[in-house]
Amino acid sequence: MDNLISKMENRLPQELLTFLRTAGEVADNQGQRLYLVGGAVRDLLLQRPNLDFDLVVEGDAPLLARQLAKASGEKPAIHRQFGTAKFRSGNLSIDLATARCETYSRPGALPDVTPGKIGDDLLRRDFSINAMAIDLTRNSFGKLLDAYGGLNDLEQRLIRILHERSFIDDATRILRALRYEQRLGFRLEEATEKLLREHTSMLDTVSGDRIRHELELNLKEERPERILRRAEQLGVLKALHPSLTGNGWLAEKFEQACQLQPLDPTLYMLLLIYHLTEEENEQLIARLSIVGELGRNMRQVLQLKPMLHTLAESDLPPSSIYRLLKHYSLTTITAFALACDTPIIRSRLELYLSDLRYVKPSIDGEDLKRLGLQPGPRMGKMLQALLEAKLDGKVNTREEEEALVRQWLK
Ligand code: ATP
Repeated sequence: MDNLISKMENRLPQELLTFLRTAGEVADNQGQRLYLVGGAVRDLLLQRPNLDFDLVVEGDAPLLARQLAKASGEKPAIHRQFGTAKFRSGNLSIDLATARCETYSRPGALPDVTPGKIGDDLLRRDFSINAMAIDLTRNSFGKLLDAYGGLNDLEQRLIRILHERSFIDDATRILRALRYEQRLGFRLEEATEKLLREHTSMLDTVSGDRIRHELELNLKEERPERILRRAEQLGVLKALHPSLTGNGWLAEKFEQACQLQPLDPTLYMLLLIYHLTEEENEQLIARLSIVGELGRNMRQVLQLKPMLHTLAESDLPPSSIYRLLKHYSLTTITAFALACDTPIIRSRLELYLSDLRYVKPSIDGEDLKRLGLQPGPRMGKMLQALLEAKLDGKVNTREEEEALVRQWLK
């Protein structure tokens, strides 16, 4: 297969197709060549929907963007130093990049970039299936550029790197390989798998931010538990932190989490660290440069864990369950409800999540003022006591709440 015009006509939305034709012609008139590249080409050939398309210009992307954006009256956002431009055209969001040539000064470093030909631009890519381009120039519109056997690998369902140093140059490709393999139901080509296994330690050369970003993308995939199993098989988890294991337990919990709360990478992270010690957890937080909400949640897991046994006490009133759990985030509690294997504890965590956290007294501060109480700490305590009475079923109606308050006030 060489020309993809009919595929493009059948599968791409009309607006996008018209835009690609026009853009190709405008580039032509400027003496430049324009290509559709990467994931959009891969997914077009696989018949998978993908409207996130990348365009590469052999020449000067900002120059082309300015001309194209004129038609829609928009001003493109231009990054001169990267040779990229972004703008809107109708309903489309367009990303244009100048074809580039990359070299790596040392493993894991960001590459040194110079303008290049489309062939250079494709060579810097991760896998053959992502290294194809479609020519958008008038006379060759729809022509497939496939220098690395991407089409054949799509047919054979293989993930293949383009050269032996690929994982050394950029070890984030290790995490990307797992993502595509499981998303597309492909497998790693033999030599690629061998090199991946050999080079897992190269993950040490990559910054925490970049690893975390790829990890989060993996956890957002439809079947993260499969990626996890594979990451363990290939020694990738251990390379991220020696105490991380993706044993059967974790894969099972991931599967349950997936049904419960799809697309919550935080929940998966909390399950991943569930068996770590505090020290290991801190090491991982530092390694992945984790800050903010995710870091707080990861620490909460280890704070709550030693207290969890109190939830196994017999005759524990709901107010005690509430008092213990109210300080923790819902994601943390959900992680425990999934991870904990003691039925009584699990049922109490579930009771909190499904019922207790929603309980509120019918009476509020205004009502207490009406009953003669002054605003202040005592009022706060009384509202809290009222909530606990309600949680424990001692009061059920507004009237019963009022009666209890009057009794307290006597
Ligand atoms: P997705 O469907 O996951 O968005 P995509 O293929 O569009 O897939 P992006 O992460 O958006 O993936 O990257 C766009 C393209 O840039 C990829 O198709 C690939 O060709 C290239 N690319 C991205 N990251 C790397 C990398 N670390 N090394 C080499 N090429 C990369």
